Amino acid sequence: MNALVELKSELRAISDLHAAAMVLEWDQNTYMPPGGAEARGRQIALLSRLAHERRSADRMGKLLGELSTVADQDSTDGALVRRAHREWERATKVPGELMSELRNHTSRLYSVWAEARKASEFAKVMPLLEKNVELSRRYAEHFPVDHPIDAFIDEHDPGMNAASITALFAELRAELVPIAEKILAQPVPDRTILDADYPEAKQLAFAAHVSAALGYDFERGRQDLTHHPFMIRFSSGDVRITTRVDPRDFSSCLFGTIHETGHALYEQNIAVALDGTPLGSGTSTGVHESQSRLWENLVGRSRPFWEHFFPQIQEVFPEPLGGVDLDTFHRAVNTVERGLVRVEADEVTYNLHVMLRFDLERQMLDGTLPVAELPDAWDERMEADLGVRPPTDKMGCLQDVHWYCMPIGGGFQGYTLGNLMSAQFFAAAQKALPDLDAQIGRGELAPLREWLTENLYRHGATYLPDELVKRATGEALSPQPFLAYLREKFGALYGVEL
Ligand code: ZN
Repeated sequence: MNALVELKSELRAISDLHAAAMVLEWDQNTYMPPGGAEARGRQIALLSRLAHERRSADRMGKLLGELSTVADQDSTDGALVRRAHREWERATKVPGELMSELRNHTSRLYSVWAEARKASEFAKVMPLLEKNVELSRRYAEHFPVDHPIDAFIDEHDPGMNAASITALFAELRAELVPIAEKILAQPVPDRTILDADYPEAKQLAFAAHVSAALGYDFERGRQDLTHHPFMIRFSSGDVRITTRVDPRDFSSCLFGTIHETGHALYEQNIAVALDGTPLGSGTSTGVHESQSRLWENLVGRSRPFWEHFFPQIQEVFPEPLGGVDLDTFHRAVNTVERGLVRVEADEVTYNLHVMLRFDLERQMLDGTLPVAELPDAWDERMEADLGVRPPTDKMGCLQDVHWYCMPIGGGFQGYTLGNLMSAQFFAAAQKALPDLDAQIGRGELAPLREWLTENLYRHGATYLPDELVKRATGEALSPQPFLAYLREKFGALYGVEL
């Protein structure tokens, strides 16, 4: 068999094993009864191990060696071999014993964190977090990196590193902090409509209606309930989304659904020919997040979008919303607040929460922040950036699961990279589609989706994030389109010059 054909067939098998594990995970997070937990953990671990064994097999290394000339080609096969090589390297660099020590430790850490979080006692989990820092540093030592966090960044956002992200974030921060301060000094908008009765079934039906209007294909997907919403892909023909419902606040289900729909639109529109290969899914965490945030925020929280959908949501919820005007509604779903919790943060303050985490995890990894000082460092930074101090560790450094369930590092920067990219992609789409705002105002979302499919989605992981951004927008990634977007949108909403 020719080496490329054999490689593709092997990659297809790895992808199928991975997808089978994903189906089990999806079930675990939606319908599985609690009694299934123990066996399910074992079953998923077995499939993941089988996939890992194939991914790191000597035969895989040999095939990739034979295909080194293909890797140099500027073609889809070239990109495929390069991506497969990256994955093979990642799978073989770290010794198996360290990997299993990390897996065992992080699963114990996760359950202790859940207890510590409930009790809001950082001390309970501190020694285990220290151990996670140590194991994460040992993991990073197997990669040729300048900073230990680079080993993890490269996994989530390939091609980027601490130096490039720090520079990008510094430019963002310098202008974002004064923007946030100016907005936060304004009176808080009326948000009373966000605390009323919104029947669950109606919320789900309306969210599904909006999702379909954005172009989510329910013939190749479905939506189910879960605790922590996510999107999951089994194949190009089966890309699922999940949501949750707060019966007193429609925004969590609706914007959560639009967010996951954005992730799903990316996956559903990748060229079918890439299915079953390492190119057959989104190229990075940051680019993926750019699509969830583009649809959730730049489209879903925009004035044109609600010019079209507001009469519809009023009809669904005549009781709380019938007498409300569009301006009040639009301001309520775009309120900027001195919040403590990242996942509830608005578009303006969200990136301050992310940069805090990125800086602290970098410092823990390089030893400049002792783990014992994490709670104080967190609280001080919150006070400096947002003017609020978490009253408890639960609302502070115990709130996010990332540091307590996997190696430390690389899990946060993608959120802010995604926000920056979302504005840059959207600005490029506006340039290419001069009628875009009016189209959104008429509920015509296909032109935007088609532009994104043509310039981003169909390529899957063919291009690394930096290259994709350049190809789609003509420019290197920059915080400026995002800052311009915030100034224009929130300047108008709050009636201030930003
Ligand atoms: Zn997301």
